[in-house]
Amino acid sequence: MSAQSNDTALMVNRDLSKLAPRFADSVKAAIDACNRLGLPAMVYEGYRSLELQALYYKRGRTVKPPMAPVTNAPTNLFSWHGYGLAVDVVHRDLFWKPPGGNAWFAQVAAVFAGHDCNWGGNWTHPDPPHFQWARCAPSPSDKIRDILQTQGLQGVWKALEAIA
Ligand SMILES: [Zn+2]
Repeated sequence: MSAQSNDTALMVNRDLSKLAPRFADSVKAAIDACNRLGLPAMVYEGYRSLELQALYYKRGRTVKPPMAPVTNAPTNLFSWHGYGLAVDVVHRDLFWKPPGGNAWFAQVAAVFAGHDCNWGGNWTHPDPPHFQWARCAPSPSDKIRDILQTQGLQGVWKALEAIA
């Protein structure tokens, strides 16, 4: 891979067009609804490339920002971010430190729940900024990785009803 494409791959990506279409529509609608309710939420990161996931993992699992660990997954095939089926949502001004802390994320999660998105804050190891398409299992399975290999991202999106 050339240095140029590597640089692009290593940038945090918040381009919703990289997400599965139905998931992108849900995220947009949920963010708009949050904003109308006085919750200044924004997508910090959506699709995560293999290169960026590897960097996150290698760097002691921290980046600036965020200061907190961002991933337990060594490759993007073990995180729904790598499939365009997860986003991390933060406060527009205060990022990972919204007023009220987790209670703020819980309010955002209540809105996202109405738009077919599950919340990482409910996990055994909570990840409050994380939201993923409701038809996704908590983590991508071997079967999903197999579909990716044989049918590509579109195949995964179809299997999870994330594309029309
Ligand atoms: Zn996430």
